[in-house]
Amino acid sequence: MMNAATVLQELTAFMESQPLVSSHSHRIPYEQLQGKNDLFNAFVWHSGSTLISAGMPEEEYERLKDLSLPPETKWQLFKPYWERMQYTAYGRAFLLATGRIFGIPALNDATYRQLNDKFIAAYASKEPSYYQKVLGELAKVQITIWDFGTLRTPENYYPAYRFENRRVAVCDAFLTTRTREDLEAIERVHDCTILTFDDYLETFDRVFQEKVDGGMVAVKILLGYLRTLDFAPVTHDEAERVFNKIFARILPNPGYLAHQFDGPDFSEAKILQDYMVHRLFYLANRYKLPVQIHAGFQLGKRTVEEFGDPKLLNQVFIRYRDVKFVIMHTAIPYSYDLAVLAKNLSNVYVDFSWSNALSPSMTKRFFGDVIELVPIDRIIGFGDDSATVEGTLGEAIHARAMVSEVLAGKVCDGYLTMEEAKHIAKAVLFDNAKLLFLGEDTPKK
Ligand SMILES: [Zn+2]
Repeated sequence: MMNAATVLQELTAFMESQPLVSSHSHRIPYEQLQGKNDLFNAFVWHSGSTLISAGMPEEEYERLKDLSLPPETKWQLFKPYWERMQYTAYGRAFLLATGRIFGIPALNDATYRQLNDKFIAAYASKEPSYYQKVLGELAKVQITIWDFGTLRTPENYYPAYRFENRRVAVCDAFLTTRTREDLEAIERVHDCTILTFDDYLETFDRVFQEKVDGGMVAVKILLGYLRTLDFAPVTHDEAERVFNKIFARILPNPGYLAHQFDGPDFSEAKILQDYMVHRLFYLANRYKLPVQIHAGFQLGKRTVEEFGDPKLLNQVFIRYRDVKFVIMHTAIPYSYDLAVLAKNLSNVYVDFSWSNALSPSMTKRFFGDVIELVPIDRIIGFGDDSATVEGTLGEAIHARAMVSEVLAGKVCDGYLTMEEAKHIAKAVLFDNAKLLFLGEDTPKK
């Protein structure tokens, strides 16, 4: 009879030594925060949206970012909302991180000043030693797949890129073109004249290839924030008809701007968008790039829950059978739909990025079930999906605990041996993501 505490201890120690690949991150480079961060600003980057969901008015939220305000004033603004949200997983992750980094695992009247001083001091140095400590020594994140709207990456970061209008310049937002002005931005930046729909498609193909040559390792689709994931298989002619409406809009005379930024309404624009999304899948197939698709829960206000439903991608998965689709955030709350899709379709990956930040216990239950349902090579167990190193560390602590606790349970049940459990841990936290995004190459040093 195996002793449960000993099994968990062995797996926890093993997990602590394992490096991580973060499948998805928006981590702000150190230089952008150096000399410009404090406790409250860091918290806004960590989870401002949870403060808003706790009822914080937006004007107050903006004031938290103001580095010239004294900490006492900010604490008075922050405290009532922090008290409501502190038990959410985002709250817990922040405290886990501050505990591990600064030895202060509490945020209250007695600790906020000291914690604020620690944050200011950590970000004061010219050298990014604080990032090295948190990411390298504490979180042990070795490789990051970075969604930051750029191909210029820090060391050991590899870019995912989007072709839509959030975080990426209009000139690259081929999926969401809706106005004549959008087309003009594409022409201007990519130095071309677009006279027909086919010119437009050719330009997209060329820009896509330039991004591949520039180091893009994955394509990201975030359209689930704007619409459902039913990317209908529209014909070239149908898409061209919408494109022509955008293209042929009479340019306003100087001084007469009434029609500037006019475009078809969404029901029509969707036809062109669907076509472009299929074009993107076609190109992902050509260049053998994985496609990361946001599914499930959306961050922020005025979100529409049904936009996240990954079942609507079923036909896409079948049609593009050689494209690897990485369905993100375990598609919470559609996790079991995703698991069932991934069970049958060998090109569908279950990605755990961000899940622990939403709910570690929900994520843990799902992880235990998904191991039983889905072949192991298609489980991507960690992605911080955070703008901060503190958030990255919080997510890393949760992910390691999730993997060790679930696997320890399965070893004690006799479902797995200890050796198998360690193999699974390495696969889901490192090997699978490295192979998926970087292929057989060893990461650059
Ligand atoms: Zn993200």
